[in-house]
Amino acid sequence: MTDRQHSVGRLYGVGLGPGDPDLMTVRAAELIGKADVVAYHSARHGRSIARSIAARYLREGQLEEPLVYPVTTETTDHPGGYRGAMDEFYAEAAARLAAHLDAGRDVVVLAEGDPMFYGSYMHMHKRLADRYPTEVVPGVTSVSAAAARLGRPLVEAEEVLTILPGTLPEEELTARLAATDSAAILKLGRTFPTVRRALERSGRLAEAQFVERATMAGERTAPLAEVDPESVPYFSLAVLPSRIGLPAATEDDARADRGSVVVVGLGPAGPLWLTPEARGELAAADDLVGYTTYLNRVPVRAGQRRHGSDNKVEAERAEFALDLARRGRRVAVVSSGDPGVFAMATAVLEAACADPYREVPVRIVPGMTAAHAAASRAGAPLGHDYAVVSLSDRLKPWAVVAERLRAAAAADLVLALYNPGSRSRTTQVGLARDVLLEHRAPDTPVVLARDVGGPEERVRTVRLGELDPAEVDMRTILLVGSSQTRAVRRADGSEVVWTPRRYPES
Ligand code: SAH
Repeated sequence: MTDRQHSVGRLYGVGLGPGDPDLMTVRAAELIGKADVVAYHSARHGRSIARSIAARYLREGQLEEPLVYPVTTETTDHPGGYRGAMDEFYAEAAARLAAHLDAGRDVVVLAEGDPMFYGSYMHMHKRLADRYPTEVVPGVTSVSAAAARLGRPLVEAEEVLTILPGTLPEEELTARLAATDSAAILKLGRTFPTVRRALERSGRLAEAQFVERATMAGERTAPLAEVDPESVPYFSLAVLPSRIGLPAATEDDARADRGSVVVVGLGPAGPLWLTPEARGELAAADDLVGYTTYLNRVPVRAGQRRHGSDNKVEAERAEFALDLARRGRRVAVVSSGDPGVFAMATAVLEAACADPYREVPVRIVPGMTAAHAAASRAGAPLGHDYAVVSLSDRLKPWAVVAERLRAAAAADLVLALYNPGSRSRTTQVGLARDVLLEHRAPDTPVVLARDVGGPEERVRTVRLGELDPAEVDMRTILLVGSSQTRAVRRADGSEVVWTPRRYPES
């Protein structure tokens, strides 16, 4: 067997580039010319784009192995369905190539574009590369070709490029498109109407470019919005090019009907808890308005203006944002967590419901609120009914806070306490504890969660009777258990806090 091992052929996965044979690599041309066997995938009609790209390098006397897909997107009567039919096809194709390799023949598998980029070659590679000496030759992808033909930069500086198959569900496409800077959407054709709707819903349609048969005969480029869905072949893609350097709206050219305010929730901490929708809104804004601490969490973007302020006088900040919008600017007001929970959404709506702002469009984009992030760290303390109370008496009298705490405690609700204290407000936590102890046992679990998701995160569970106000600051949220909430030590020594879904019958 040793002899035979020495004489096995080599497998090559060879990228051919996007279509124009001049865009093949020198290595690809050389390997195709030298190969004993040239294999290529094709649909049942037998025409192979890959073979036609490589044609000028094929020689007399070379063996050709067309690997003809039994199904493409039509239905199949294979007992294993589409997957079953494909698995069988790949196994059979790999066996055919293996027979050549065993006989000592070098096999080149042609791959349009790049072999490792949504290519059919990969299915052969996975089945053969561990058994035969194998080399993969990269190729220019359709994405690079499309950007080149459009003559538009694709990604610059810190921009992110997202590659999407158009076969994804519309919702998934929409979320990904909203959250990314640049994008390429491959596998169009019958997916085109879905892709177009996703571009529209993510607010990206106006930027989208369509490229068909890049660098091949019949090439076409057009703004995607102008493309007739009936005319879209599989060999086409959509591109959202770089946004850097695109002309931003100026106050001179801005139309009054363009301006709007969106109040965006940043979530309790970093980008893991920023929704795709919120990320997209932040990127699309002309102006960002908010408390400086929160604004600092939004990446700086060329061409965007930032208006930071302190966290007082929300009404002024709201009017400032609405004024910008009236002048045609697209304004994002940022809040931490959810903008509707003790945050900017109310202030903006309050101002927008009075003159002179009644006409300004306002939208609210939700975020994860601190209580939910904190609860997840502790376990599931909010698993049953709970109430949310801000301990700040800046905007409501303490007597009202105390009355609400008393009522919630009497109803045996779990409590999420926002704004428990700050440098200037130090008494509220002690007072709240004493009110709650009127109805709750001193050993009730209290989760103290500080800077959840941030660099200084600290989450601990104490007992209500021992709650020390000195351990609480503005970046802390408190979750106070009900009579049913349990703090349980697990085998690894960690403590979890949870409130059962079932409440005992009284
Ligand atoms: N809109 C925000 C709440 C603003 S009020 C939200 O939905 O989360 C500010 C209070 O939120 C803080 O005093 C603190 O109680 C809580 N908070 C916000 N982010 C937090 C975090 N990462 N960790 C702990 N508490 C947080």
